[in-house]
Amino acid sequence: MIELLCEGHEAAYELGNVRNLFLPYVQEELVLETIYDGQIAKAYLKKEGITLQEAVYPVVLVNDEIKDKKALKEALKKAVYDTLSAYTGRQMPWGILTGIRPTKLVHEALKSGMSDEAIDAYLEEAYKVSPSKRVLMREVAKQELAILSKNQPNEVSIYIGIPFCPTRCVYCSFTAYSLEQKQKEVEPYLEALFKEISFVAQAKADVVIRSLYIGGGTPTSLNEDQLERLLTHVEQSFDLSRIEEYTVEAGRPDTITAEKLRIMKAHGVGRISINPQSMNQKTLDAIGRKHTVEEIKEVFHTARALGHDNINMDLILGLPDEDVEDVAYTLKELKKLNPENITVHTMAIKRASKLREALRDDESIHLTEGDKIEKMLELCEQEITDMGLMPYYMYRQKNMLGNFENVGYAKPGTEGIYNIEIMEEAESIIALGAGAITKIVYQNGERIDRIPNVKSLKDYIERIDEMIERKREGFEKYQ
Ligand code: SF4
Repeated sequence: MIELLCEGHEAAYELGNVRNLFLPYVQEELVLETIYDGQIAKAYLKKEGITLQEAVYPVVLVNDEIKDKKALKEALKKAVYDTLSAYTGRQMPWGILTGIRPTKLVHEALKSGMSDEAIDAYLEEAYKVSPSKRVLMREVAKQELAILSKNQPNEVSIYIGIPFCPTRCVYCSFTAYSLEQKQKEVEPYLEALFKEISFVAQAKADVVIRSLYIGGGTPTSLNEDQLERLLTHVEQSFDLSRIEEYTVEAGRPDTITAEKLRIMKAHGVGRISINPQSMNQKTLDAIGRKHTVEEIKEVFHTARALGHDNINMDLILGLPDEDVEDVAYTLKELKKLNPENITVHTMAIKRASKLREALRDDESIHLTEGDKIEKMLELCEQEITDMGLMPYYMYRQKNMLGNFENVGYAKPGTEGIYNIEIMEEAESIIALGAGAITKIVYQNGERIDRIPNVKSLKDYIERIDEMIERKREGFEKYQ
């Protein structure tokens, strides 16, 4: 436990985030005093009134309210970091960076003409980022910029959400309903969704669609007839003639049939995901997956035989009771399949997940510690780059184990455009379906406005006209 005290500043939230990184390594009752006296940011780590560690950073002000606030927060964060790092003997891979899009900093630095060496020194000096993460940030930022630099002013991406899954995974926090309970809602949902698709297609007939992503949930939890009708409706509504990427996140292998793979191919879907999360049967059983490792492989081979030549596979590190050897086995199996993309997620315990409840109630469930996750991430990087894939997008979430990251790897030329667009918020994304949030990017990417759809399935179906009205108003505002 570390009590945080603040004097002369209002950075409690940010400093709390830095303090939280070190909490797993502190067993004593400590007090962290943070002070800004108008010139210097100071942090004192104390136990029963005795100072154990202290750090000070001068704050350089430039008479610009926003820049000065940022400078003060960063100086305080570094002071807090130094005291806790010295006390615990630990360095955090991302230093004081706690935001979800670390590469944004590198984008700005690259655009201002800084060299690799200068960027590296800046990330170390200003944010205390570790050497391996600095390399990762630079590599990813360059890949992202190569895609983002091709964005055109009249372009958008489209997201369509199918919020159904056969069953709910223990770690899930998405808008996803188990088909065991909501089978009857699928048709009314599709009816509402088709209405929204028709509206958007007509209201935005003049835009160019760069990428279209059907995600969820698990879109392939629709039956063959429903999937066929959905993709036909999409095709008939939108002009897909200039689309660069059309993805369906097939997701769970137990929902994918040869016929569904054929339907997707026939409708021009160029990229699919088949997400094992792990290739260890015991783990699949533990997380609530109702399929075997063999089925994952069979589905993959069927997809290949039907011409799917851009396949992503998602992994999760830190699943309950998985060790570095389990991840090594998963990677070995993926290597044999040779997918174009692999996305490595680090376990995040979200508020809405069953796993969070289980962790609270059952002391026998253990999650993987940060050190082990770091080894798993290193192994992934080494093995996946050996397969010829490069890191091309990255994001972080709150509550991630050990404060790590999610990284998407791709063979050159197969990078997921939509993934970069959604992460970097550089282009408007029109999002349809329950819980989908449209993001309108304007003023040269400086501002973003959101148009949310209601999350609940019932509300979405019943209030579809209101959702359409929200979009109409939002679109009119940014004509
Ligand atoms: S497959 Fe994905 S969306 Fe569906 S329940 Fe599992 S984690 Fe949630």
